[in-house]
Amino acid sequence: MKAEVLTVGTELLLGQILDTNSLFLSKKLAEIGIDLYFKTSVGDNVERVQQALSTACLRADVVIITGGLGPTVDDVTRESVAKFAGSTLVTDEKSLRGIEEYFAKRSLRMPENNRKQAKFPDGAIVMENPNGSAPGFILEHGQNILIAMPGVPSEMYPMMEKQVMPYLVRKMGKVPMTIRSRSLRVMGMGESLVDEAIQDLFKNSTNPTIGVYAHDADIEIRLTAKAPDAAKAADMIEKLREKIAERLGANVIGEDDDTIEDAAGRELKRLGFTLSTAESCTAGLVAHTITAVAGSSEYYIGGINSYANRIKNSMLFVPEELLEKYGAVSEECAAAMAAGCNRAFKTDAAISVTGIAGPGGGSAEKPVGLVYIGVDIRGKNGVFKRNFGGSRKAIRNRAAQTALFLLYQQLKDIVK
Ligand code: ATP
Ligand code: MG
Repeated sequence: MKAEVLTVGTELLLGQILDTNSLFLSKKLAEIGIDLYFKTSVGDNVERVQQALSTACLRADVVIITGGLGPTVDDVTRESVAKFAGSTLVTDEKSLRGIEEYFAKRSLRMPENNRKQAKFPDGAIVMENPNGSAPGFILEHGQNILIAMPGVPSEMYPMMEKQVMPYLVRKMGKVPMTIRSRSLRVMGMGESLVDEAIQDLFKNSTNPTIGVYAHDADIEIRLTAKAPDAAKAADMIEKLREKIAERLGANVIGEDDDTIEDAAGRELKRLGFTLSTAESCTAGLVAHTITAVAGSSEYYIGGINSYANRIKNSMLFVPEELLEKYGAVSEECAAAMAAGCNRAFKTDAAISVTGIAGPGGGSAEKPVGLVYIGVDIRGKNGVFKRNFGGSRKAIRNRAAQTALFLLYQQLKDIVK
């Protein structure tokens, strides 16, 4: 079975909204093994929607339409589909009552034009919409199936999953093939290094396929398998995942939607360690990131935003002489901040960050982007020097992400 997605809405063409509906539909169609060859977007215009439908019907069996089912004059989907199919619009009494109830429940007066939403092309299967006022519909038209759903994502997603997908699977008899993906998240190595490390697996693999994508904070390795069922796909992915994970070792921080703060948090919990932070150039960004994880209070104790040297000295016990001799942006200062932080907070582990975020304040010796990150775990102290590129914002973000990654790597090595 071949499908085409048709998104209707002038906003889509004016660049006012992003077409996330087709993204969702693409994934869902892949799950049930339906090939998607074309996606089309068209404005709220009866003529052009009909044109788009006629093109789509030549190259696909199923056309999945979203948007334009609302009550206003610019909502033209039902009219366009009816015209295209040569059928008339008839009122579905059950839907009309549904829409009336929708308004009554919310103590709202139903505007007259909402009646329009209970009209469907003659012979259509109506799909209820428990999350909004516009029902969807399915119209079998010759060799083609036309499916229309509302444009609002929170209404469309459940309609697709609970009504359209089961309908399509019934039509096909069974799911011919399913496409499933799983990702590994990697930090501490660049895209090309990752590529080099797994290149041979890459080249010889057409199913599962491997994709490498660089994000701001990490690199994603996505494994995608096509198989007769989900269990088989999962099995195929797992075999390859193991090989890749083995090669990349502690650079793998997690899977799918995992973040470095999740990964570091998991390690702290595993060891039963507490954590504190001492931040200069990131001034709380590391603390903010750590505490974005629900349940972080189990291990995170607190932090000191030691922007001025006076605070590094008075609250983190960094000696004045050290600051004078080496400066705040130095290996020595980062080491002293991390050790002092553990002392101040009575924690097992502490992270320190000190650097030059720019754009001003750099020198030949200490350029913008130079950052020292200290990790002190129960007196074992390590300092890492990094040179980050980019804007002030990018440098601070990279510093915070890297600090968490370095902590994660140190913790990972500790056997409980
Ligand atoms: P309503 O009953 O709310 O009028 P509708 O079926 O008429 O729904 P539209 O009017 O086309 O749908 O779009 C309603 C809203 O749904 C849009 O303003 C937008 O927020 C969202 N939307 C529509 N199409 C898409 C799309 N392709 N991707 C993401 N969001 C969309
Ligand atoms: Mg609308």
